[in-house]
Amino acid sequence: MQRISNYINGALQSPIKSLYLDNYNPATGAVYSLIPDSDEADVDLAYTHASEAYKTWRLTSLEERFMVLNRIAELIDKNNDELALAESIDQGKPLWLAKNEMTRSAQNFRFFATAAMQFASESHNMEGQAINYTLRQPIGVVGCISPWNLPLYLFTWKIAPALAAGNCVVAKPSEITPMTAFLLSRICMEAGLPAGVLNIVHGLGPKVGSALVSHPKIKAISFTGGTSTGKHIASVAAPMFKKLSLELGGKNPNIIFADCDFEKALKTTVQTSFLNQGEICLCGSRIFIERPIYEKFKAALLLEVSKLQVGNPLLKESRIGAIVSKMHFEKVLSYIELAKQEGGSILTGGTSLKIEDHENGWFIAPTIIENLAYDCRCNTEEIFGPVVSIMPFDSADEVLEMANSTDYGLACTIWTQDISKAHNMAANIQSGIVWINCWLLRDLRTPFGGVKQSGVGREGGWEAMRFFTEPKNVCIKL
Ligand code: NDP
Repeated sequence: MQRISNYINGALQSPIKSLYLDNYNPATGAVYSLIPDSDEADVDLAYTHASEAYKTWRLTSLEERFMVLNRIAELIDKNNDELALAESIDQGKPLWLAKNEMTRSAQNFRFFATAAMQFASESHNMEGQAINYTLRQPIGVVGCISPWNLPLYLFTWKIAPALAAGNCVVAKPSEITPMTAFLLSRICMEAGLPAGVLNIVHGLGPKVGSALVSHPKIKAISFTGGTSTGKHIASVAAPMFKKLSLELGGKNPNIIFADCDFEKALKTTVQTSFLNQGEICLCGSRIFIERPIYEKFKAALLLEVSKLQVGNPLLKESRIGAIVSKMHFEKVLSYIELAKQEGGSILTGGTSLKIEDHENGWFIAPTIIENLAYDCRCNTEEIFGPVVSIMPFDSADEVLEMANSTDYGLACTIWTQDISKAHNMAANIQSGIVWINCWLLRDLRTPFGGVKQSGVGREGGWEAMRFFTEPKNVCIKL
């Protein structure tokens, strides 16, 4: 069985204690590879090499960094098929979707390589007295921790700006989906990334992730994952005065006004609800539909969803793949049971599925629930699976109150042809990201992140470059 390795000091290495964890294929439920069960000692070793490499990496020219990050991007593109296959097997997502995500992972490197070339700092002139300028310097060795839903995409979304800004990195991908991060280590070696600049330590969150967060010399943590893990990380890192970026959970509203472009809203709602089995932090799990079109939209949505094929992620006709892990599969099913107890009616789905030749895989039918109160647990807690709830509303004020009623505030989608209504909703919705008449349309220059319990700080564009640098003001008396 394949054993993957840590990537430390530019080489593939076994964990110090030679312990390994099982890695499952969610479409079959079977163990198909072994991953390092690393611990504090491996993190410390990675830190030692990263801090050594930092002495030269921080001084490399922008152009040199630009070139090597671009080479990584080219190699991700060149190996798109191999990476996408690995991602699909490891995560359960359809292969066609994994291919798109690999392309987007290459774009992360390309985008931040270019961003570093353009990044500039301010100068403040005190007329006749002094001139100030801001030096933006790399932080040193930073820690990046990423989740299992878009494994390589979110891993590279952190690593690329950190490296582009001149930091060295110790990174931990989710133990549930380690494979593409492992393949990335090989790509970094082939691209000629200097040894120690990027180190990837595989293993469990409470061991490897914790060791990164509590490491006295790792000065910043960029984390994407669940809100409760984020809270714990903040409680450890804040008293150590670490810089923290937290991208956490969501319970996003998808608000459909009667004056929307019906067909576009319908088609996109199928995506916002079920793309990647609903395991995207930006998916819209609470669908609010204005009453005059409620019944018509509901019937059309049910028809569209009945056409979605759930199945073997490697088949091109599969629109929905497997749920990432047995634990998560059980969690999603438990929320469907809770929905029934909370008075919800299951309009479609609501059960696990047995797929031919994949009987032990973790598949759940796309599920639409009606009649749930907007403030019940199923409508306020993150389920993070192919489960949505639909609710009617009568006015913009009412839907704003319902949409804003959760502890989360990551993203929302609004469908209307009325431009004033769209602006008013955008201004009053409690959310870090607002999509109007679209969803998941991403410009990497825009600030990305959430409010309330969806996170602290922003990623993307200059926000990421600012996070991964320390500003230093230099004041020169004239
Ligand atoms: P988790 O919070 O369980 O894990 C995220 C990462 O943190 C994993 O690498 C995990 O390792 C690690 N981790 C777990 N415990 C600790 C710890 N004590 N200290 C340090 N690291 C730890 O999230 P999931 O992987 O379950 O991901 C799903 C969540 O991510 C959802 O809530 C989703 O909304 C959120 N998310 C947010 C996004 C955003 O941009 N706001 C984007 C994508 C997802 P291990 O896997 O080994 O446990």
